[in-house]
Amino acid sequence: MKVWIDQDLCTGDGLCEEIAPDVFQGRDDGLWIVKEEAKHFGTTTIFDGAEGEGHGPEGASGLARVPEGMEDTTIEAAEECPGECIFIEP
Ligand code: SF4
Repeated sequence: MKVWIDQDLCTGDGLCEEIAPDVFQGRDDGLWIVKEEAKHFGTTTIFDGAEGEGHGPEGASGLARVPEGMEDTTIEAAEECPGECIFIEP
């Protein structure tokens, strides 16, 4: 299962991170992104070039694999997301 966030629709409330902190993460600029942690996803795609931050790229290019065992909370986060901007793909 894979997940990404459409940042254009994100309201910045942080609900996704509250529900699934291992999958979603708030960024300093107020947008939420999917996490790309090496321990979860294998090779890390670094968002801003700073090694070890564990941030994936934005938007659909930020498509990230959902860690095993986190599928249910990821789906819950998508259902609860007020911006309806969390997209799940098989
Ligand atoms: S729950 Fe949705 S709208 Fe809220 S911060 Fe997360 S992605 Fe953005």
